[in-house]
Amino acid sequence: MAQSLPPIRVLPSTGRAPAALDLRDVRDRPLRDLRISVTDRCNFRCVYCMPKEIFGRDFQFRERDELLTFEEIERLARIAVGLGVRKLRITGGEPLLRRGIEDLVARLAAIRTPSGEAVDLALTTNGSALPVKAAALAAAGLQRVTISLDSLIEERFQAINDVKFPVKRVLAAIDAAAEAGLGPVKINTVLKRGVNDDEILDLAEHFRGTGHILRFIEFMDVGATNGWLLDDVVPSAEVVRRISERYPLEPAAPTHPGETAKRWKYVDGAGEIGVISSVTGAFCGDCSRARVSAEGQLYTCLFASSGLDLRELLRGDAGDEELSGILAQHWGLRDDNYSEIRAALTPGSRKRIEMSYIGG
Ligand code: SAM
Ligand code: SF4
Ligand code: SF4
Repeated sequence: MAQSLPPIRVLPSTGRAPAALDLRDVRDRPLRDLRISVTDRCNFRCVYCMPKEIFGRDFQFRERDELLTFEEIERLARIAVGLGVRKLRITGGEPLLRRGIEDLVARLAAIRTPSGEAVDLALTTNGSALPVKAAALAAAGLQRVTISLDSLIEERFQAINDVKFPVKRVLAAIDAAAEAGLGPVKINTVLKRGVNDDEILDLAEHFRGTGHILRFIEFMDVGATNGWLLDDVVPSAEVVRRISERYPLEPAAPTHPGETAKRWKYVDGAGEIGVISSVTGAFCGDCSRARVSAEGQLYTCLFASSGLDLRELLRGDAGDEELSGILAQHWGLRDDNYSEIRAALTPGSRKRIEMSYIGG
């Protein structure tokens, strides 16, 4: 069943979706990147993402039949690629908890752009299941993984994930991913002042020269359960300065437009790091990302308070062309720039979706 939305400039009078490259939002940003959450569940309870007090035994996660099926995700991804998406990222919750995830990977890997090219296919994971699944994921067509790792100190890492998951198993996951050919492996470290900012140099040293790309992420005010304070944020400029004092860094050109991480190369050739300045250096200006929650809500911003119900549309009788037109229209209306206006908003004035639900 089609959802009624006001007409917008991107919709040609035929009601058809515009050609991929013509699709622009209100701020002239194309749609290039689709992040697909396949589950809202996770086997970790990272204190800044799924604190146990909220995500405890009684927490009601989505039932299986509420989640988009692999067929539905594939169809949606195919339509999105037709509209200009060139990068698909599978996320969650913990995506490797979704049974048969390799099947979804294979379906997404088979999608081709209108000119017949494959799209970039990546997955973000806490790594816990990677030693078992890396080879199968690579065989199914997954190209790269990003693995989250916030500390190298055993006690601290276990306190952050809050389920006593040992750090050595995540390090083993990184090795397994690289061996399976899922590289270069990116490692995401969320920095929080007073929690792990004393490890910036140790982490940099650990991954220098390995071929893996360590990325430091500024702790963000996503959701409403992580008790975010601006004082907790470790600015990327500080990260670069602290590493550079020991191992000089120089800026590197972005790999593609709209890239979230700013790249810095070690001057001595030992590889690169990335910094994601979601708080101190808003990159809304060329944000080309949309996110789909596990139950099929489409969000055009990580900080959105409402989405478009794609599941209803996918399960209704709309054909691909109609769906494509609705998606295009929705993107055409997009005006999000939360990170640019964050400072001007009254704290708590906006309802926000949890990161574990919307996908990082
Ligand atoms: N479970 C997977 C994982 O941890 O990689 C995928 C989903 S997780 C929500 C995706 C990424 O979001 C992780 O790298 C996580 O560290 C990051 N993240 C979660 N909450 C965050 C926050 N408040 N600020 C910045 N990054 C956050
Ligand atoms: Fe789970 Fe990832 Fe959130 Fe940690 S950051 S609780 S691993 S979804
Ligand atoms: Fe994109 Fe929203 Fe983040 Fe800005 S705040 S970069 S629009 S997801």
